[in-house]
Amino acid sequence: MEDLQKILEAKGLKNTRQRKLVFSVLKAAEGPLSAEEIYIQLQGEKINLSTVYRILEIFLQKEIVLKTNISDQKSTYEINHSEHRHYLICIKCKKVTPISGCPLRAYETYLTQKNQYIILEHKLEIMGICPDCQNK
Ligand SMILES: [Zn+2]
Ligand SMILES: [Zn+2]
Repeated sequence: MEDLQKILEAKGLKNTRQRKLVFSVLKAAEGPLSAEEIYIQLQGEKINLSTVYRILEIFLQKEIVLKTNISDQKSTYEINHSEHRHYLICIKCKKVTPISGCPLRAYETYLTQKNQYIILEHKLEIMGICPDCQNK
């Protein structure tokens, strides 16, 4: 799971069970899903369709998901992967610096093909000493 908690915190949202459910369905999906498709996958989780819509609206406002409108079709939603971030971490002052982009997407595709895995997430933290601490 892409770290939903961190994403929500950064956006000033609480990490509720229902938000987590909707996020996990989108995360595991191979392509964009409509609200109805998400709802169907969550049957048995005591979440109704209007709640799914409401959560998707919030995710959309916060740019956690992207919405696609193709004419004559239902709107679909997918995770906004630009949210996926990695960080440089200074081991001395613990400063965290985001790195733009992800260098591992192509590697994930390679691993999927080589090992027949469905890759769900990865974690990458690069530890080092920041410029400020180098000068101390
Ligand atoms: Zn530092
Ligand atoms: Zn990555």
